Amino acid sequence: MDKTISPDLKSWVNIPAGSDFPIQNLPYGIFKYGTKKPRIGVAIGEHVLDLAFLYRKGYLDNLFLNENVFKSKSLNKFIGLGKAYWNLTRNRISELLREENTELRANKEDLKEALVPMIEVEMLLPLQIGDYTDFYSSMEHATNVGKMFRPNGDALLPNWKHLPVGYHGRASSIVISGTPIQRPKGQTMPEGADTPVFGPSKLLDFELEMAFIIGRGNEMGTSIPTTEAESHIFGMVIFNDWSARDIQSWEYVPLGPFLSKNFASSISPWVVTMDALQAFKCEGPVQDPPVLPYLKFEGNKNYDINLEVFIKSDKGEATLVCESNTKYLYWNINQQLAHHTIGGCNMRIGDICASGTISGAKPNSYGSMLELTWRGTKPITLNDGSERKFLQDGDTVIMKASCKKGDIRIGFGEVTGKIIPST
Ligand code: MN
Repeated sequence: MDKTISPDLKSWVNIPAGSDFPIQNLPYGIFKYGTKKPRIGVAIGEHVLDLAFLYRKGYLDNLFLNENVFKSKSLNKFIGLGKAYWNLTRNRISELLREENTELRANKEDLKEALVPMIEVEMLLPLQIGDYTDFYSSMEHATNVGKMFRPNGDALLPNWKHLPVGYHGRASSIVISGTPIQRPKGQTMPEGADTPVFGPSKLLDFELEMAFIIGRGNEMGTSIPTTEAESHIFGMVIFNDWSARDIQSWEYVPLGPFLSKNFASSISPWVVTMDALQAFKCEGPVQDPPVLPYLKFEGNKNYDINLEVFIKSDKGEATLVCESNTKYLYWNINQQLAHHTIGGCNMRIGDICASGTISGAKPNSYGSMLELTWRGTKPITLNDGSERKFLQDGDTVIMKASCKKGDIRIGFGEVTGKIIPST
């Protein structure tokens, strides 16, 4: 087993109980602190380890890098070094943070600069994202939406169990957690009307998703088989794919969602690596009918990641509205990537592929307001007593993700976004 995920590892850095960031996690992010330029950091407990500083001080000399790739406003260059360097870097950071290692710990002066309290840093978008794809990989979600949008047809369309349905999203409007989300305007067709109206969306929603980040590209004209998909994926983040349901239901025929999804998507700041996640692999749902050969895979390719969604109104405390899990996904990320590239599409470092809304079988595991309130017919009551059919101005949506196995718990932190009124 990879030593960096061993449950026996302990760090000299204080890790509060229940922390998302023990020494077994070591996720990467881009942070800003004081007057320093943006740089790569690793989350450890309630601190951020400044890799640009460690490099400058020689702590990372054994990586034999030609330049300080950690002094950067995105992870792309570091990711581009390749998997061998991801491993070297992870091993070295793990080593420096271990209880028995005194190299950094004993140097009080360096320590002050190397470990920054998380509460004092500003997290930035960790990637330069060229392209963003959104899948539709949860059978429960696709079934629920099918029932609501096509009440007289089959809930699942005939292609759904044969290929991971997806569409090309908008990369330019992916924002970091904490960025306010302005209610979008657009065309909608009110029920019973025969001409559309224009105005702020009335049915603003979140979508609970996880997204993976491309760590190694492929040439145009080639494809990535399921057996190699893992070596092309760097890590994962929580992904809130904000959606305007009233705009969506009017515009989506025949080419799929457009303005209803392109105004914003929010991601969590810490990229949890596939190395850190390896202990949390699990079986996915049985795929029946059998898939075509290029989508076949062996072994456990799903991930057991617990997901939570909270809504916090302007006055109230946060209310837990959904508990789901990434393991419910019918199509795993290896299949998503294999399918994405089977026609010869080239993926590039920093591209993001989101799972689609992750819903489970139980009503409290539905990953969107659309499903939780069944298109507004069953409103949710928040802790402050107010009701919600969809999101209101002033609401903050908070999504959290974490994995637990035995004594080890690693987490993704959270992705938050507050709805502000249309202008
Ligand atoms: Mn989506």
